[in-house]
Amino acid sequence: MTVRNLFLLPGDGIGPEAMGEVRKIIAYMNKAKNAGFVTDEGLVGGCAYDAHGAAISEEDMGKALAADAVLFGAVGGPKWDSVPYEVRPEAGLLRLRKDLQLFANLRPAICYPALASASSLKPELVDGLDILIIRELTGGVYFGEPKEIIDLGNGQKRGIDTQVYDTYEIERIAGVAFELARTRNNRVCSMEKRNVMKSGVLWNQVVTATHKEKYADVQLEHMLADAGGMQLVRQPKQFDVIVTDNLFGDMLSDVAAMLTGSLGMLPSASLGAPDAKTGKRKALYEPVHGSAPDIAGKGIANPIAMIASFAMCLRYSFGLVADADALEKAIANVLDSGIRTGDIMSAGSRQVGTVEMGDAILAEFKALSA
Ligand code: NAD
Repeated sequence: MTVRNLFLLPGDGIGPEAMGEVRKIIAYMNKAKNAGFVTDEGLVGGCAYDAHGAAISEEDMGKALAADAVLFGAVGGPKWDSVPYEVRPEAGLLRLRKDLQLFANLRPAICYPALASASSLKPELVDGLDILIIRELTGGVYFGEPKEIIDLGNGQKRGIDTQVYDTYEIERIAGVAFELARTRNNRVCSMEKRNVMKSGVLWNQVVTATHKEKYADVQLEHMLADAGGMQLVRQPKQFDVIVTDNLFGDMLSDVAAMLTGSLGMLPSASLGAPDAKTGKRKALYEPVHGSAPDIAGKGIANPIAMIASFAMCLRYSFGLVADADALEKAIANVLDSGIRTGDIMSAGSRQVGTVEMGDAILAEFKALSA
């Protein structure tokens, strides 16, 4: 039997509540489908600080590095607002991204038909929306040097950030975009600002060359990132896969996210390079939302973002495409049936808590898998 090692880091606030619903799905898949998941669990964020004085212990970092995939809940909360900067809860997530070398951030924006009317756009513009934004996560202006504020000595200061990309960084993120496009509708739109930025010129050249060399079967389009932002709210369904840099990706993925409604619905994945021997990529899957201290412990958090993150894990780390499709369909069917957590509640629907939503999705997943 294939052994699939999962390392669970539920974290703080609503993280453990949402992770609990994924644990039930893992248990079901092991029992009914012989899926071979072996799980281990660690601490990250504030709870790790309380236990070890660090946002993640070395032991847990070792387990994360050894696992086939990491499932991450959420970190942070007012209790840890004044802990030293280096051990703040978010430092655990940043350390994981850095040590696992997770350079590709995948943010799907899917609009479930049942929630189309909750979008700030007209329902017909978002109904059935299914796009994937791929953001470069470890380079660009957030990390480029020099990065400083210098005193000019005349009562003025100068803030400097450096946007920098090397060929290999653009090649590898473009490769991820083209490969994933092949599993979807085979279209990639690359976004940069080649009209005003040298890094944009290089981005455009390298994406074009990578496409010509290895992925000519995929349809490629280039768009200036500002025009891309406009098109995302004008006609979002024109896109399949969007690939862009760290800064533009940060903004464009948040814009796309809000087309689809609540934070409680949004999954994400961060992938590293394939291992030279095994071909497996390091990967971390997490909901986009934070630890939601305002509702933590009340049993009302929406577990869908966490469950959909697990569906991404099935798809991208384990190639269990039929199971990923079934789990995503289970979420859609449950929403169609009118069941809602508080954050996505609308008139005429039935409001449930975290556990009941998780149970409904699991029951539907079982029915679809039968
Ligand atoms: P948040 O995402 O935790 O919450 C924003 C709002 O959305 C809150 O009103 C919350 O109740 C609601 N919400 C979020 N997820 C929900 C869900 N699954 N179901 C129902 N409602 C949901 O963002 P915030 O309030 O800005 O931050 C709270 C804490 O989380 C802070 O400590 C912040 O640093 C941390 N944070 C962590 C991550 C992460 O772990 N990746 C991401 C963002 C924020």
